[in-house]
Amino acid sequence: MQQIDNLGGSPDRGAIESFDVIIVGAGFAGMYMLHLTRGLGLTAVVLETASGVGGTWFWNRYPGARCDVESMQYSYSFSEELQQEWHWTERYASQSEILRYANHVADKFDLRRDIVFDTKVVSAVFQDTESEWIVSTDQGKRYRAKWCVMATGCLSAAQTPAITGLDTFSGTIHHTGNWPHELVDLSGQKVGVIGTGSSGIQVVPELAKQAEHLYVFQRTPNFSIPARNQPMDSQYENLWKENYAERRAKARTTSSGILYDPASPSALAVSPEERQKEYERRWAAGGTGFASTYSDLIKNEEANSTAAEFVRGKIREVVADPKVADILAPVDHPIGSKRICADTMYFETFNRSNVTLVDLRTNPIQTISPEGVVTGTDVYELDTLVLATGFDAMTGALSKIDIVGRQGLTLREKWKDGPNTFLGLMTSGFPNLFIVTGPGSPSVMTNVIVAIEDNVKWIADCLADMIGLSAEYIEATSAAEENWMNQVREAAEGTLYTKARSWYLGVNIPGKPAVFMPYVGGIPAYQSFCDEVAAKGYEGFQIGLEADRPAICQLRA
Ligand code: FAD
Ligand code: NAP
Repeated sequence: MQQIDNLGGSPDRGAIESFDVIIVGAGFAGMYMLHLTRGLGLTAVVLETASGVGGTWFWNRYPGARCDVESMQYSYSFSEELQQEWHWTERYASQSEILRYANHVADKFDLRRDIVFDTKVVSAVFQDTESEWIVSTDQGKRYRAKWCVMATGCLSAAQTPAITGLDTFSGTIHHTGNWPHELVDLSGQKVGVIGTGSSGIQVVPELAKQAEHLYVFQRTPNFSIPARNQPMDSQYENLWKENYAERRAKARTTSSGILYDPASPSALAVSPEERQKEYERRWAAGGTGFASTYSDLIKNEEANSTAAEFVRGKIREVVADPKVADILAPVDHPIGSKRICADTMYFETFNRSNVTLVDLRTNPIQTISPEGVVTGTDVYELDTLVLATGFDAMTGALSKIDIVGRQGLTLREKWKDGPNTFLGLMTSGFPNLFIVTGPGSPSVMTNVIVAIEDNVKWIADCLADMIGLSAEYIEATSAAEENWMNQVREAAEGTLYTKARSWYLGVNIPGKPAVFMPYVGGIPAYQSFCDEVAAKGYEGFQIGLEADRPAICQLRA
């Protein structure tokens, strides 16, 4: 039951609201967590910085923002009624359609009454004696709960690069990860885009249609596959809807949680002609499934280079100017070792007369002046500068909150050499604090909604078990955490993922330790680990029982 009490003492401590569970974030993770928490009969509040639900899809409103997982798959599976009633209009849903879907879910399950919007969580402090969390917000309010769930997102802390002079620019600056709600009219303007990751690759073709002239500032080229987006085929939609349960279950047997055309075992086991034919077929079909043509593409450099060379060949076919094509062709990382992009007319855009590619590798940005971008040799005068410069991924949103665990240990301090968790779900020293799609979980390597659903369900089941046990707390042990992080590292070391300087490693953020953060062992291996841990009485976790307080009971099978 929700309670409001006054802790007394100094007036600035004010009233504090009590719940069973505090959830931070109202994206797909926080919304589903709230739904399941209510199902357990617990009281919960969701605290959300934004003024609406949807998370990623609330913030990333830039032109061209679109899902790269097919819409029949990028949606919740937990409600048969929901998945039957919702109609996706395109093969890959646009940001606005996904946001409409998130709002539909919030309405359908009456979620908003327990969400406090326009409220940023600034601190979460564990109270050792009471075994509860006190969470404070930028609105000066405080909440307390025994359980706290961080559903703050892997890609929710937009990163503004520290380029000298950025704050002196006299035009307008927009970050793709925090795009204005109002229509941004760029017609007749000189526009610059810094960044050519997934966001840059999506926004560039759209801005080129509006701007008088578009300058694309590229430091590292990326592999991108045509999405071949199209209106939803009603037969295809019906096939999915008739077989949703079976297809969702099958998707969960794949590493990424996505049903693609099955991969063949090895790119090197077939003739070059056969390989070329298969790459052509996948290229024509479109989408990120291209990276799953052969299962050894992400493990074997020789195999990988066959796919990389195929895509470089396509770039040279599409881009009219061979010099521009060369600059756009990625050579410094294996294909798929950074999140592969899906585009709509990206490479074609560089054939437009109002688009200029600026190669920052040969001509780096020196400064941003009031007029625009200054490189070693040129000044690019701009009206608007778009930063498609990415995110402080996986740990960024958490490290912006003052999270304090047992005996004053801060999460920032604990993770200063890289994040360590048990299964991405909990971190030792921080009892009763759960993380959805935390570092050390498959999260960003998957259809993230699958990863979210699995994590949230596990957390809800754990809460039910803890309440059944009258547990005072549950906390990951350091031994289990160390063992798990070794597995996370070993899984990555067996692949080519570590060959790229990507945000998976955190190297896009100055000063962030270079540690490979997601678990790349795939959804099935991860999920069976999580299930086994729970089935063995939460092996690897310490559980303190209220009855034994302060004694600790270590549950074992
Ligand atoms: P989010 O959607 O990020 O939600 C987290 C919420 O927490 C946000 O609303 C944020 O405001 C809030 N929050 C954070 N910190 C605080 C705080 N201190 N106080 C209060 N509130 C806070 N995944 C895919 O699988 N396929 C895709 O095609 C795909 N496309 C993407 C495209 C873009 C542009 C981006 C950025 C990501 C994409 N992703 C994609 C990943 C995407 O983030 C996930 O699919 C999913 O939406 C994450 O949901 P979430 O609830 O975990 O996090
Ligand atoms: P990103 O992949 O990290 O790309 C950021 C880009 O900005 C890179 O090209 C980077 O260059 C460049 N950059 C950063 N700082 C710079 C600087 N100081 N000077 C010049 N260039 C700079 O970020 P993102 O494109 O926003 O994508 C992040 C993730 O979000 C994706 O990988 C994906 O998971 C998700 N996403 C998905 C979709 C989708 O298709 N559904 C769309 C958008 C995002 P360097 O590489 O040289 O550092």
